[in-house]
Amino acid sequence: MNAAQPILIVEDEPAIADTLVYALKTEGFAPEWCTTGRAGLVALEAAAKKERPFVLVVLDVGLPDGTGFEVCKAIRKTSAVPVIFLTARNAEIDRVLGLELGGDDYLVKPFSPRELTARVKAILRRVAPAVGAAKEHAVAAGEVVVDEARCAIAFRGVPLDLTRYEFRLLKVLAGQPGRVFSRDQLMTAGWEDPGASLDRTVDAHIKTLRAKLRAAAGGAEEADPIRTHRGLGYSLREPGAAGGK
Ligand code: CA
Repeated sequence: MNAAQPILIVEDEPAIADTLVYALKTEGFAPEWCTTGRAGLVALEAAAKKERPFVLVVLDVGLPDGTGFEVCKAIRKTSAVPVIFLTARNAEIDRVLGLELGGDDYLVKPFSPRELTARVKAILRRVAPAVGAAKEHAVAAGEVVVDEARCAIAFRGVPLDLTRYEFRLLKVLAGQPGRVFSRDQLMTAGWEDPGASLDRTVDAHIKTLRAKLRAAAGGAEEADPIRTHRGLGYSLREPGAAGGK
């Protein structure tokens, strides 16, 4: 990567923004700072028009002109750019909501600049196309087909629109249909920093994943191929197995 990758920061507190700008510059990125959600959306649009789109957005949840969640929703209408939420509120509902609204990660204030840059780099590594490295192959677990090279999963032939966490969870489950994975195992496989996540985070992503799987199958309840094993974890229905949980 030659040119510094542009990163958009939407944060109304100058002290936090200054720290972020400095930390990201030090790591070789080209940060741009906006103080409102509206300004952030304008900057995103302008960058896309200049064909130098932002590679990532750091988005404060509490903004003067609304919430970061609303801004993320607006971003998602046109862009799949990774979003890291910054939240001052420690309530779990905020975290989960944030991820369900299309965010890729979140940090609770106060956080260290190093923590942020580590998350940024981890996300960018994950979304970077593995040029020349990956052998293109698709792994099929019956009705779930994982296309690793394209980071895509289809269910019953219908491509799923998944967040990165949902993708990773389903990929792990589809890797060994029938095997029960504990929440810890799923977290280790799916999160860069599993220690910072909670069991309920896995549950929340499984819930949204199930909704998408059912929607892909036309809404039928029994189409959901994920099974809950109480007190143990989750598994993916084996190919050919009957419905039900
Ligand atoms: Ca704020």
